[in-house]
Amino acid sequence: MNEQIAYIIDIQDIDLNIKKIEDAEAKNIYEINESAVSLKNQSEKLEELKKELSELQKKVNLCELNIESYNEKILKYTEAQKQIKTNKEYNAMQKSVKDNEALKSAEEEEIIKTMTVQEEIKSAIKKTEEDIRLLSDIVLNKKAEVESDKIKYFDIKKNLADKRKEIEKILKAEFLNVYEAIKNNNKFPAVISVNDNRACTGCFRILPPQQFNELLSGEIFMQCPICSRILYYKQDMPEIINDKTDKKEKKDKTKASKKARVKA
Ligand SMILES: [Zn+2]
Repeated sequence: MNEQIAYIIDIQDIDLNIKKIEDAEAKNIYEINESAVSLKNQSEKLEELKKELSELQKKVNLCELNIESYNEKILKYTEAQKQIKTNKEYNAMQKSVKDNEALKSAEEEEIIKTMTVQEEIKSAIKKTEEDIRLLSDIVLNKKAEVESDKIKYFDIKKNLADKRKEIEKILKAEFLNVYEAIKNNNKFPAVISVNDNRACTGCFRILPPQQFNELLSGEIFMQCPICSRILYYKQDMPEIINDKTDKKEKKDKTKASKKARVKA
């Protein structure tokens, strides 16, 4: 493998690291949005529950009013009974008292049933309020995290971009263009190893022996005949000799710095 391929691999490592950072940033934003949607749903649910509770309270109030009115009637009929002379009239009054008592009991039962539902709704409200509190915390913490990461990631990305520019200066433009074209064609990684079975590890196509031998010679710039990725033989990696980018790499704590470059 030649030095130029090693430079492309370095550029690719930088791009992979930048992509990793961008993916992490996108993931955080996605999670914030997801939590914000849940928060909105829970808030709507809370409003619904409160509305329902208030409707039920209106129902209880109405039942109480009805009970009051039945009580008045019961009292009225009971009083009237005292003035009555005939059994027939007495029985008729007695029936009215009983009818009103039955209506009153029905209202009382309704109140008990309604209050049971109210208790359930109150628990649901409590649970929803707790969920809202937790979700709000998540959103707030995540936003703070994203803000602090933004500064940190900005520096790392700048560092990587600077390093990339340095390598671009020593990499032939035609090779860089090929790399960019493959990458922009969504074939990333665009530079990929061929294994001992002569297979491109991007598409797993086996290279013909002659082509594989050419690759082993390290003299040529080769692309996979199937997926177009730039190929290198994996055992060809390493050993460092080179220039200013190496010194820079040592300072860089990212993964890209660990990638060594080959002998020319
Ligand atoms: Zn391939």
